[in-house]
Amino acid sequence: MIGVVGGGIAGLATAYRLQQHGHDVQVFEASDQVGGLAAVYETAGDSIEKFYHHLSASEETIVELIEELGLGDDLEWPIGKNAYYWDGTVYPMDKPWEILAYPKMSVYDKFRLAMLTQEIDVRGGIPKFDTYEDLEDFEDVPIEEFLLEHTSRGVYEGFFEPLLRAKFGDRMDDVSAAWLLGRIKFRGERDLLRGEPLGYLEGGFGQLLDALVDAVGEENITTNARVEELGVEDGAVESLTVAVADGADSAATQVEAEADGGTTTETHEVDGAVVAAMPNVLEALCGYECDIDFQRAVCALVTMDEPLTDTYWLNVGHDAPFGALVEHTNYIPPENYGGDHLLYVASYIQDYEEDLWGMDADEVEELWLGHIEEMFPDWDRSAVTQFRLAKNPRAAPIYERGYLDTVIPYDLGDEVAEDLYYAGMASRAQYPERSLNGGIVAGYECADRIAGRKEIVRSD
Ligand SMILES: Cc1cc2nc3c(=O)[nH]c(=O)nc-3n(C[C@H](O)[C@H](O)[C@H](O)COP(=O)(O)OP(=O)(O)OC[C@H]3O[C@@H](n4cnc5c(N)ncnc54)[C@H](O)[C@@H]3O)c2cc1C
Repeated sequence: MIGVVGGGIAGLATAYRLQQHGHDVQVFEASDQVGGLAAVYETAGDSIEKFYHHLSASEETIVELIEELGLGDDLEWPIGKNAYYWDGTVYPMDKPWEILAYPKMSVYDKFRLAMLTQEIDVRGGIPKFDTYEDLEDFEDVPIEEFLLEHTSRGVYEGFFEPLLRAKFGDRMDDVSAAWLLGRIKFRGERDLLRGEPLGYLEGGFGQLLDALVDAVGEENITTNARVEELGVEDGAVESLTVAVADGADSAATQVEAEADGGTTTETHEVDGAVVAAMPNVLEALCGYECDIDFQRAVCALVTMDEPLTDTYWLNVGHDAPFGALVEHTNYIPPENYGGDHLLYVASYIQDYEEDLWGMDADEVEELWLGHIEEMFPDWDRSAVTQFRLAKNPRAAPIYERGYLDTVIPYDLGDEVAEDLYYAGMASRAQYPERSLNGGIVAGYECADRIAGRKEIVRSD
């Protein structure tokens, strides 16, 4: 049996693929539900992710999996409107004429931005088409320096700076230009006249989790089961020690079990283990140290009985206590949620000391809804019927310069022990953007290596 640590999308995808290769698996999930960062809330209709989620058209593996699991007909590619908020005005940013009318950049800035997004280098007046092909050339270049050299100050200040500040806060100067170029490539083809189609699974990505659980088999997944120890014998992984909350059902064969105040500690013999969790979990289990820093996220799902805007993704151009307003029901219709309007308010946090991280839900609600009222004086807070808050201490890696040298290899045979693999967020598949697709790719990479289907490349 192969033990999988973590029942997020990466752990479930690992188990699914391992079974396809003929392996017995057991997934151990510390919390009481699978899904990790993709876990969901209930609404008056379909369930919805606690943190906003959509797919980019470049993400193919998740689309294949959705189809394989029989959910292909539920995958939709609506276009949600994007806009910028500056000084009391919402500026739509999807259609060419909207972008032309955007006042924070000159026509020349817009031309330079368009060329960069088409990956055409127009410095010196002669277009070059291969400058941005090799991202490694930009791995050590700070983003601001890159944008000022390859576009214009107007592009940097009127477009990218607020976005980077919302995403990376005061760590934005640490991020590499290679990351930005990777993100530009990651985005799917835009519909020139309407904007970028984004993928969403009707009924929510919870449906994908449910289908994976069905495919893997509930008997092969134990929730409320925290893996606490990794046993290594003769240089190879041979057991996992798991604290299972009493009442949780574990079908896996145990070699040892010991009860202690509400949890039972079980030791399971394994032929291998895949850690599909954050790098701190890997470190606690085997001492492997990863240098990647993570951002925290604070994200509210606000239920309203009327819409706030007509925009899906609203970037905020001023210093606000949140980074973006993501009005989900301007992308997926409110009818799917019993007629309610759903708005995500989200902020990334770089430092545990930031006040927002320590605030409780009521304090965050007061701060954020108060600021939204200032931004939209016509909006009435009484439209809010529910405010739910999710926090996560490791919501996304900070893609610092030199990031790719710090990713954790899929196969940890050389670094730690034979038969130990890593499919968590610090893996290569989660660059340049962490995503559900990246989690699935990481899980498959590990499963395929275990099945010996792939040549093992130690330097990946
Ligand atoms: C704000 C936000 C917005 C996002 N937006 C998008 C988006 O638009 N599109 C997209 O595709 N992705 C998005 N993502 C990213 C996506 O959610 C993640 O990349 C993906 O869910 C990561 O899956 P994972 O399985 O690697 O990790 P996780 O989801 O973190 O799963 C790891 C699991 O391991 C469990 N665990 C931890 N320690 C142990 C232990 N010792 N024993 C057993 N279990 C353990 C945890 O409880 C958790 O369930 C977003 C994420 C956030 C936070």
